[in-house]
Amino acid sequence: MKNYKIAVLKGDGIGPEIVDEAIKVLNVTAEKCGFTVEYDEALLGGCAIDATGVPLPDETVAKCKAADSTLLGAVGGPKWDTLPGSQRPEKGLLGIRAALGLFANLRPARIFEPLREASPLRADIIGGSLDIMVVRELTGGIYFGERGRLEENGVQAAYDTEKYSVPEIERIARIGFDLAMKRNKRLCSVDKANVLESSRLWRETVTRIGREYPEVELSYMYVDNCAMQLVRNPSQFDVLLTSNIFGDILSDEASMISGSIGMLASASLGATGSGLYEPIHGSAPDIAGQNIANPLATILSVAMMLKYSLGQPEASDMIEKAVADVLNEVRTPDIYVEGFQKVSCTEMGDAVCAKIKAM
Ligand code: NAD
Repeated sequence: MKNYKIAVLKGDGIGPEIVDEAIKVLNVTAEKCGFTVEYDEALLGGCAIDATGVPLPDETVAKCKAADSTLLGAVGGPKWDTLPGSQRPEKGLLGIRAALGLFANLRPARIFEPLREASPLRADIIGGSLDIMVVRELTGGIYFGERGRLEENGVQAAYDTEKYSVPEIERIARIGFDLAMKRNKRLCSVDKANVLESSRLWRETVTRIGREYPEVELSYMYVDNCAMQLVRNPSQFDVLLTSNIFGDILSDEASMISGSIGMLASASLGATGSGLYEPIHGSAPDIAGQNIANPLATILSVAMMLKYSLGQPEASDMIEKAVADVLNEVRTPDIYVEGFQKVSCTEMGDAVCAKIKAM
């Protein structure tokens, strides 16, 4: 029987509560699908600072590197907000992404049918269904390029440099095309090639890699048009491939379409494919310890892990279907509306498990 080793970084705030529910769901799914999972817990963020003095202990990096994949809750909270920048919990997050060489960030934006009302977009704009995957380059571009300040003719100025190499573009493009092959086989590459030289190289390289994927329909869109199209006609998109800065902005815009922060999963992938999976929301200190957090984003992160790192697409589909089904019956307070049963974090986890067991 196939056995997977998962590094578990519960983190701070609601992190432990939501991760426990995701593990519960993964165990039930594994039993149903005939594989086993072993968990190796490690510290990250505020809890790591309290226990070891640093947000990312070496032991955590070693455990993640030794695992088939990593599941993360969330880090941070007011207790650590006064620490200097280099010692803050969020530093641990950036550190683990760098240590694992995670250069691709995958953020799905989808609408679950029963939550259609939560979207700020009108139903006729959303159309039949909405399921977009933003693939964002994570370790290059203007956030990492040369920057500085200077004085020109007695006037203060500053600059940041957008720079991409061909290998950097090739590897993120391949992630995007591989994903498109597992989805609806459409990829839209976003750039600003009418103005930026770096975008022209981006487009040339994506076009060349695209020839390796003749089944994928490749299109291009300028970033300003894409920002507009996301709220005008979002269902036209399948995979959106972007640079670091464009993806930062567009993935937040796309995720808002779904209307609920407690529902959104994400993945970060590197060369090894093992990846780091986490909800997009933070540690929600305002509701921590009350058993009212929505665990579905973390549960859906596990579904992504099964599909993109563990090679268990059927198990992944099972979880996604169970989540869609429970939304017709029960709701945590953040997505509650009249007519449904209001449930706690643990009850939501139980409800998803029950759906999977009944499949
Ligand atoms: P947040 O996402 O934690 O919370 C924003 C709002 O959404 C809060 O009202 C919260 O209660 C609610 N919310 C978030 N997740 C929820 C869930 N699963 N169920 C129900 N409600 C949920 O963002 P914030 O308040 O800006 O940040 C809080 C802390 O989290 C800060 O320390 C911040 O640095 C950290 N943070 C961590 C990550 C991460 O670990 N990846 C990401 C963002 C913020």
